[in-house]
Amino acid sequence: ETIGARLDHTVALHGDRPGLIVRQQGIRWTWRELAERVDAFAAGLVALGLRPGERIGIWSPNNAEWIITQFASARAGLILVNINPAYRTSELEYALNKVSCRALVTATAFKSSDYAGMLMSLAPELAHAAPGALKSARLPSLELVIQIGARTIPAALAFEDVPGLGGAPERARLAELGRQLQFDDPVNIQFTSGTTGSPKGATLTHHNILNNGLFVGEAMRLTEQDRLCIPVPLYHCFGMVMGVLGCLTHGSTMVFPGEGFDPLATLQTVAEERCTALYGVPTMFIAQLDHPRFAEFDLSSLRTGIMAGAPCPIEVMRRCIEAMHLSEITIAYGMTETSPVSFQTTPDDPIERRVASVGRVQPHLEVKVVDAEGRVVPAGTPGELCTRGYSVMLGYWDDAERTAQAVDKAGWMHTGDLATIDAEGYCAIVGRIKDMIIRGGENVYPREIEEFLYRHPKISDVQVFGVPDAKYGEEICAWVRLREDETMTEEDVRAFCRDQIAHYKVPRYVRFVEDFPMTVTGKMQKFLMRAAMEKEII
Ligand code: ATP
Ligand code: MG
Repeated sequence: ETIGARLDHTVALHGDRPGLIVRQQGIRWTWRELAERVDAFAAGLVALGLRPGERIGIWSPNNAEWIITQFASARAGLILVNINPAYRTSELEYALNKVSCRALVTATAFKSSDYAGMLMSLAPELAHAAPGALKSARLPSLELVIQIGARTIPAALAFEDVPGLGGAPERARLAELGRQLQFDDPVNIQFTSGTTGSPKGATLTHHNILNNGLFVGEAMRLTEQDRLCIPVPLYHCFGMVMGVLGCLTHGSTMVFPGEGFDPLATLQTVAEERCTALYGVPTMFIAQLDHPRFAEFDLSSLRTGIMAGAPCPIEVMRRCIEAMHLSEITIAYGMTETSPVSFQTTPDDPIERRVASVGRVQPHLEVKVVDAEGRVVPAGTPGELCTRGYSVMLGYWDDAERTAQAVDKAGWMHTGDLATIDAEGYCAIVGRIKDMIIRGGENVYPREIEEFLYRHPKISDVQVFGVPDAKYGEEICAWVRLREDETMTEEDVRAFCRDQIAHYKVPRYVRFVEDFPMTVTGKMQKFLMRAAMEKEII
C-alpha cells in the first residue's frame, strides 16, 4: 500500500472523525477535510511541473501545512526531504544540494530564526526571479520556493495559492499516479539527528514508514477513539512516522500543541483536548513532570504514549506512570535508518520490563547482537545490535560508502548501539558504542551511572560521558541539572556515589548546568559536552 492509498482508506473508514487539531492555528479538521486539502495541494504541485521521484524539501516547525505537504508529496510521487528546523544557512545549503531539491516549502520564521532571510541570503536571486523560475548560483537545483504564511520572498509562491493552480487534468494525473506508484518507491529522505556528527540522509519507502506507523500504533493499541498529543518535531521520524502515520493507520486524531515543544503548552493541550496518548523524548517528560504548574492540569484522560529516542530512565518512567496517568506508556527504540522503530514494549509486558527494557522486536523484523568480529553473542551479553527486515532504509542518499558501512550485504543494519537481548527476547539498550568509556581498561557504560544518579532526589537530569585523561585513558564526567531551588556540591555527588557504585565509575568531574547541548529532537550531544570539558581541563 502507498501512503496515498492509505489516506483514501482512512477517509473511507473514519472520514467524519477528527483527524487533525493544530492548537496554535486554531485548526480542527476531520480526516476528510484534511484529505481534501491534501488533494488540492497535490494537484497544485503537479500543475507546477513537479514529477515523480523529484525531491521537495520542507523547512518548517510543526503546523498544518507540514502535514498537507507530507501527504500531498506522497500522492504526487515526490520524495519529501525533511529539513531540520534548527538548521542555519550552511546546513540548509548542504541538505538542499546533497539531495538536489527542486522545490522547497518553507516557513517564514520560527522562534528567533528568520528562515526567509536566511534563504534569501543563500539565494539572493529570490529577490527578483519570477515565482517558480529560480536560478540560483549556490542552490543550483532549486527552482521553486513555496512560502507558508505571508509571502515575503518575492520569487516564492504563497502556500495557499498552490491549490488553485491545479484543475481537472491535474486531478486525473494524480489518479493515474495513484495506480502507478509502488509501495517500495522512495517517499522520504530523513536526515538523522546529528547526535554523533554530521547528519546522514536516509532514503525511505512508503512500505518502510507506513508499516512502521502501523506496528507502532498497534503496540499502543491505538484506535479511532484515541487522541494523540504530538509535541515532537514533524521533521523527525518520531513526529512524521510514529505520530502522523501511526494516527493515519489507526484513524486516531493528531493533536499538535504548538510549533515546537513547550512543557506548559503540552500539559494544557493534554488537559483541554482530553488526549489519550502522549509522545516525547525523556527530557520532554522530565520538563513536564518538573514544571511548577504541573499539578494544575487534569491529565486523567491519558492512557498510553511513547517515550523514545534516548535512554529512558527508570525513575522517569515510574513518574510518568504514577503522576501522569500513563499506565500503558510504552518505550520504543529505533533509528531514522530503520523507519524508525524496531523494538517497543506493550501493555502486556510485565511492569519491570516496561520501565527497564525497550521490549521485544517488532513483528516482521529479525534481530541479532554481535561482537566486534561479527559473531552472535550468547543471550544477555552486550554487543552491537543489528536489525533486518522491511524497515531498513534503501540507503543513505547519494552516499554508497556510508551506506555500505551501515547496511551489510546480507541486509543487516548495524545500529552502532550496544544492547543485550535476554532469553525471552527483551532488549536493553546499553548505549552508543561511540559513548562507551574505557577507563583504565574497564568498560564503563554512561547509562549505568546516569540511572544511578537519577535516583538522587535533588537531581533533575544528568549526562555522563568520558573525557581524555593522561593516566587512565579516559575519566568520567557528569553534567548535572538540579531540580528547582536545590543546591549540591561536586563533592556531594561523589559522596552519594561512593560505597554504592564501583570506585572507577565515580565521576572524577562534576559540573552543574542549566541546559545541555541538544539536537532539536531532544537528543543529548555528548560530543559537544566532551569538547567543552576538554577545553576546560586540558
Ligand atoms: P546521528 O546518527 O546523526 O548521530 P542519531 O543516531 O541520534 O544521530 P536518530 O536516528 O534520530 O539519530 O536516533 C537514533 C539513535 O537514538 C539510536 O541509534 C539510539 O542511539 C538512540 N535511541 C533511540 N531510542 C532509544 C531508546 N529507547 N533508548 C536508548 N537509545 C535510543
Ligand atoms: Mg544514528
